[in-house]
Amino acid sequence: MQVWKFGGTSVGKPERMHSIRQLITEDGKPKIVVLSALSGSTNSLLSISESLISKNITEAKEKANELRAHYDAFIQELYKTPSGLGKGQTIVEKEFAFIDQLITTVPYTLKEEKEMVALGELLSTQIFEAYLQEEGIDSLLLPALDFMVIDADNEPILSKIESNLATILAPHKGKQIFITQGFICRNPAGEVDNLKRGGSDYTASLIGGAIAAEEVQIWTDIDGMHNNDPRIVKNTFPIRELSFAEAAELAYFGAKILHPSTITPAKLKGVPVRLKNTLEPIAYGTLISEKSTDIEIKAIAAKDNITAIYIHSTRMLNAYGFLKRVFEVFEKYKTPVDMITTSEVSVSVTIDNTQNLDAIMSELREFADLEDPDMNQVIVCIVGNFYADKEGIAIKVLNAMKNIPIRMISYGASEHNISLLVDTKFKNDSLNALNEGLFF
Ligand code: ADP
Ligand code: ASP
Ligand code: MG
Repeated sequence: MQVWKFGGTSVGKPERMHSIRQLITEDGKPKIVVLSALSGSTNSLLSISESLISKNITEAKEKANELRAHYDAFIQELYKTPSGLGKGQTIVEKEFAFIDQLITTVPYTLKEEKEMVALGELLSTQIFEAYLQEEGIDSLLLPALDFMVIDADNEPILSKIESNLATILAPHKGKQIFITQGFICRNPAGEVDNLKRGGSDYTASLIGGAIAAEEVQIWTDIDGMHNNDPRIVKNTFPIRELSFAEAAELAYFGAKILHPSTITPAKLKGVPVRLKNTLEPIAYGTLISEKSTDIEIKAIAAKDNITAIYIHSTRMLNAYGFLKRVFEVFEKYKTPVDMITTSEVSVSVTIDNTQNLDAIMSELREFADLEDPDMNQVIVCIVGNFYADKEGIAIKVLNAMKNIPIRMISYGASEHNISLLVDTKFKNDSLNALNEGLFF
């Protein structure tokens, strides 16, 4: 069994759904197909939600009507028969009646917002499943809310997903195509929740891990993982092969093509992940697996919205107790630290979740001197094979960056990552300078 995931642009137009039908059926192999919402839908649903949070019901209704018109036109083009169209209309009718219900729910809380954003995937999958039925394809819709579960820390519970799926799939041996929703899940309270923006990739790899799939394929609008961010840098090119470790670093440090956690379950269960282009299916794409190639420098990514905190020891603590105290504070506030640099008396760290920044700063002040944190920083991450006995890599990186101020450097923590912290205003220059300096 394989798991194939199609992102927003891959399902965003009726003709794309037609090509996906072709793609998922032509090799005759059984698969679970994970779909995102139609491109733009999750943003529209969040925007309706924003209007509701600011108590602007009229605006929310207008936005919902606009979205409804989009779906009405979409299904007119998608289905070929009156009965197919009839099914599509029933689905759209039902889900938009639910949107109307959410619009009039008082108070409108985070729980309702999560139900609202889940509608994108609920709509796309039902509409697509009805289209497969119209085409006479033997498929089945598996509701993700029946098996995709997260714990109190919003972490997916892989063992539970595995047992849930085993039970759900057992009566359907021999079925060729299963369709399910990306992104959405249930939390421990049994409420509708989600895996954060871009989470459909994560759904696919969680399912891939849970069923020990032969392969997970992520179908998107580009021919694989590029060596740099193609939205910012002109001369980028696809990378044919990446190891799990390399791909995990790139996803975590901002390569938008993959949700940051996508690689974790695939790596854990040894399931290869292939990135493919829906618009150009014959392109090789990228294969992510256990194997690494010895290309030295593979790719660059950037993670936005980073805050740097500079902490100086007041020497009230033993030198060896200082770091422990510092990290206990971050642990207490469940705030992951991305980069660390140290000197004899100081340590600088970066975080991207600033929800508890004030509390963290005030606890750190109990035993350390702090400078004002630097907001608006970016981690630029260079990924490749940087084995300890290789020389000359750091100099290449620093040479490329010679005209750009660097706040922090992290080298040697992993054999696959060199990270630099720069101010956001230097992000584009850094990515372009590194592209020139490291690849051409
Ligand atoms: P989907 O809707 O299919 O999930 P996304 O928009 O989330 O697609 O991801 C694909 C996009 O990621 C590409 O169109 C590209 O602009 C962007 N991207 C950013 N960094 C990279 C990279 N290193 N390689 C490929 N694409 C990247
Ligand atoms: N639809 C969700 C989003 O836009 C999940 C996804 O597309 O992966 O974030
Ligand atoms: Mg995505």
